[in-house]
Amino acid sequence: MKILVSACLLGRNCKYSGGNNRNEKVLSFLKGKEYIPVCPEVEAGMPVPRPPVEIRQGRVVSRDGKDLDAVYRRGVARVMAEMGTVDLAILKSGSPTCGVHEIYDGTFSGRKIKGRGILAEALAKAGIPVIDEKEL
Ligand code: SF4
Repeated sequence: MKILVSACLLGRNCKYSGGNNRNEKVLSFLKGKEYIPVCPEVEAGMPVPRPPVEIRQGRVVSRDGKDLDAVYRRGVARVMAEMGTVDLAILKSGSPTCGVHEIYDGTFSGRKIKGRGILAEALAKAGIPVIDEKEL
């Protein structure tokens, strides 16, 4: 079984803020399994740290007002092209890229709504089971 996993859940400092979302449950679940850590936002060529983004009317926009949709989707396309066959993805909840069940609402006010990040969406469309770290 090969698992795609959000790199920040493993402790990699790839979050927009420069930190990570290290999750002990994820780490212990992955012990002895084959997995590929990815950060689609870094794959998109974005720096760390970087301005936060949210999805507004279906497009990825940054808090400082830039439309980064094409850039972020390029990162997702790259992950999809390079990951090979995976059986499961474990992604970070709430992210506009990795979020599985909910995302921020596009107003940068901290409010969450139902929805999927753009990587979670692409994986689900490809038929890959996707869960977030809270579902382990
Ligand atoms: S894009 Fe995904 S892997 Fe990268 S920091 Fe955000 S939640 Fe983590």
